[in-house]
Amino acid sequence: MKFNTKTIHGGQEHEKAYGAVMPPIYQTSTYAQTTPGGHKGYEYSRTHNPTRHALENAFASIENGDFGLAFGSGLASIDAVMKLLKPGDEVISTNDLYGGSYRLFTKIFQDFGIKFHFISMHDASNVESHISKNTKLIWVETPTNPMMNIIDIKTISKISKKHGILLAVDNTFATPYLQQPLDLGADIVMHSATKYLGGHSDVVMGALVVKDKELADKLYFIQNASGAICGPQDSFLVLRGIKTLHVRMQRHCENGREVALYLKKHPKIEKVYWPGFEDHPNHLIAKSQMKDFGGMISFTTKGNNYNEAIKIVEKLKIFTLAESLGGVESLSGHPASMTHASIPKEEREKTGVIDSLIRLSVGIEDIEDLIFDLKQALG
Ligand SMILES: *Cc1c(COP(=O)(O)O)cnc(C)c1O
Repeated sequence: MKFNTKTIHGGQEHEKAYGAVMPPIYQTSTYAQTTPGGHKGYEYSRTHNPTRHALENAFASIENGDFGLAFGSGLASIDAVMKLLKPGDEVISTNDLYGGSYRLFTKIFQDFGIKFHFISMHDASNVESHISKNTKLIWVETPTNPMMNIIDIKTISKISKKHGILLAVDNTFATPYLQQPLDLGADIVMHSATKYLGGHSDVVMGALVVKDKELADKLYFIQNASGAICGPQDSFLVLRGIKTLHVRMQRHCENGREVALYLKKHPKIEKVYWPGFEDHPNHLIAKSQMKDFGGMISFTTKGNNYNEAIKIVEKLKIFTLAESLGGVESLSGHPASMTHASIPKEEREKTGVIDSLIRLSVGIEDIEDLIFDLKQALG
């Protein structure tokens, strides 16, 4: 099955009782048993729920994996991955990563005795020098948030395999429409399904997909034992969202390209971060591991003025100033004061998150309206 068919049919079957094309929302916590243990495959909804199960099969299908797991948020899914580790274990992570992931690593799991190395993976070979005998996991986000750096998944997977280390990729920005990390050698794919997979800014959810049965069993155990699952209603919404992922992504990419080109020519703009530019430092890797360049763009204005950046995001009308990304509607954000406020100023500036940086999640509205909105806000 091709990707555009998988988004609609992957892992799905019509409901048995009445042939419902969409799985019903099984809004139930428990399931009747005829005798202790005599059930139809479902006992309790923390462990299993048919609506969630249909969604988990869809996750596995679109990421070319074998096992999917749904969680109550993207961070809950990362939390589950971290619980594979023990005190003394080490993790090598991208230094330019989602603020909430950084907070989870440094404020929660560091206290449990896990050591994190935040490094630039711009040059993938840089990873190897940070590996010790305690390294158990490499955590990669690509394109990175919000600097749109591209990390070479295939090269890092060769290093992780050589050393017997798990490689996890946060695929939230790219989505499986653009990039399929398991095919490039990753062991775990993670999503904030809140973003493009859900696609309509109406649900918070996380996802993991793996191929290896033993790894899947460990994660299912953690999912059930820790209990950070999502409900059936939310499962239904994300399943519905995934059915249009490919058409939405196509338009996100088209609009993203137009916006990036417009900003690049604008006299007030200092720099535009978008992997589709030929002068983007890892453009060739982006081209080889991604199908297109997506709808996420960051830019800075000349003079690096904090207040000017705030004014621009206040003036934008169609681009709503809001946290999050990946919905049908265009959003703007000011990382230094919003998503990345939890990262110390010195740390964030090292990775390029300076005061004038603005991040756009380009939606699927009419491109002329989007360009007009940017024009009036930049003045
Ligand atoms: C939003 C986001 C997360 C966290 O997901 P939640 O659903 O908000 O918990 C993790 N990684 C990336 C890249 C994100 O954009």
